[in-house]
Amino acid sequence: MSSTWTHTFNTPVFKGTVEVPTGLFINGKFVDGSTKQAIDVINPSTGQLITKISVGTLDDVNTAVKAAQHAFETTYGLAMRGSDRGLLLGKLAQLIEDNTDAIACVEALDNGKTFPFAKGDVQAVVACFRYYAGWADKIQGKTIETSEAQLVYTRHEPIGVVGQIIPWNFPILMLAWKLGPALATGNTVVLKPSEFTPLSALFVAKYIQEAGFPPGVVNIVNGYGNVVGQSIAEHMDIEKIAFTGSTLVGRKIMEAAAKSNLKNVTLELGGKSPNVIFDDCNLDDAVKWAAFGIFFNHGQVCCAGSRIFVHEKIYDEFLHRFTEYTRNVKVGDPFDPDNFQGPQVSQVQYERIMGYIKTGQEEGATLHHGGERIGSEGYFIQPTIFTDVKPHMRIVREEIFGPVGVVAKFRDEDDIIAQANDTLYGLAAAVFTRDIVKAVRTANRLKAGTVWVNCVNHLHTAVPFGGYKQSGIGRELGEYALANYTHVKAVQINVDMQL
Ligand code: NAP
Ligand code: MG
Repeated sequence: MSSTWTHTFNTPVFKGTVEVPTGLFINGKFVDGSTKQAIDVINPSTGQLITKISVGTLDDVNTAVKAAQHAFETTYGLAMRGSDRGLLLGKLAQLIEDNTDAIACVEALDNGKTFPFAKGDVQAVVACFRYYAGWADKIQGKTIETSEAQLVYTRHEPIGVVGQIIPWNFPILMLAWKLGPALATGNTVVLKPSEFTPLSALFVAKYIQEAGFPPGVVNIVNGYGNVVGQSIAEHMDIEKIAFTGSTLVGRKIMEAAAKSNLKNVTLELGGKSPNVIFDDCNLDDAVKWAAFGIFFNHGQVCCAGSRIFVHEKIYDEFLHRFTEYTRNVKVGDPFDPDNFQGPQVSQVQYERIMGYIKTGQEEGATLHHGGERIGSEGYFIQPTIFTDVKPHMRIVREEIFGPVGVVAKFRDEDDIIAQANDTLYGLAAAVFTRDIVKAVRTANRLKAGTVWVNCVNHLHTAVPFGGYKQSGIGRELGEYALANYTHVKAVQINVDMQL
């Protein structure tokens, strides 16, 4: 038996004691890693230690894969009816909903996101598990008419043991996006959370156990990316891998899949999403959405609207109002209900973002607002705006993954389409205009997996999400995600027995 982290929250938003297991969750039990070593879990608001969790190795991944294989063959997979899988997912949703505030507090403490947004994430997790609970008994193939002499039908069978690697920006939400469709379709899972934010996944593992999933259906192996993550990506008995994180690691995952068993790969990677603000928009609304687009979750959002393009006629007025709005974005303690923005997730990310702010200045862009650290402990950064940017600059081309937006002008529709699509990425884009025809025309021309009109960051469990170009492969959420987790088998029956 491994140990437990017990913590009493006494915050304006939640008071109570939580108990979170700190072991690896393998075959339905919390266990120590094979080396008995631990990883520090850090509070990004202070830089101080919260607790330590067990660290996994290749041996632990092997044990988890064996447990997952056994569960797939004997208790889950095709051995359990879809309606029963749906009941389990529904129970899990209920247990999480009953403990929303406690889980949200753990997420806010470990990740640094402010409590109301952490709570929003937990609510989205509940919705995601309920949504996929509804799909679990509706996984079905087709009958295909070929000739009177043939009966042809397809089955959508679960793939088997799937590997899932998730990031630190939306730890519990990414867990749900991954587990929901995989479990609804009957797969069993070996999942690795990010080493920077492991606690909410372990908290949920308790409820996976309590909901009654058979041992081995979900295994959570914490540890380092280049050890546990790599072992999952290379594993010969893992048939499919789903990854969310950086493009750099996404390439490694694909390479490992290619070099091992050609496992099927879906990737949700970064972005440098354009936010297009036409001169006929509602300017006050566009300002608020633009700020939400880049400062939400401290800019640590794959679909963040980090390139803000404003029509030249309203550029000065937009910049004036956007700067005023940004001045009032409150940054600080995630548990203070007045704050919108908390600390960046880790020292590494803090340094990376400050590095980009320096690079932007060296490249000749104007640091129009912000750019400084806030306070002397934790990883707080001022909401930051760059102007006078040029298309070749690194701060315009590369994903900063922090509260740093670049603002540029455009002349007309052709100009903005060229500028907006001038990126290696294609995860999302937004358009602000009151002209519906212009909105649709622009949406059609933008090369991105999601286009928002007069809003940003709207996500819904039923709506597919994923990237064009180097933002990824495949779609998460909605009915589309189910296809990532099923093999299609065609059965051809010769009815009249003729050759
Ligand atoms: P990352 O390294 O790609 O981390 C994502 C996940 O991959 C983590 O669980 C990580 O584990 C794991 N990992 C790392 N190296 C691995 C490897 N060789 N094989 C298998 N798994 C591996 O992302 P990061 O370094 O935390 O963040 C860097 C950049 O990634 C950010 O600045 C941002 O641009 C991008 N990012 C994008 C998203 C997104 O939602 N699209 C999310 C997070 C980050 P460890 O945590 O143990 O390293
Ligand atoms: Mg942490």
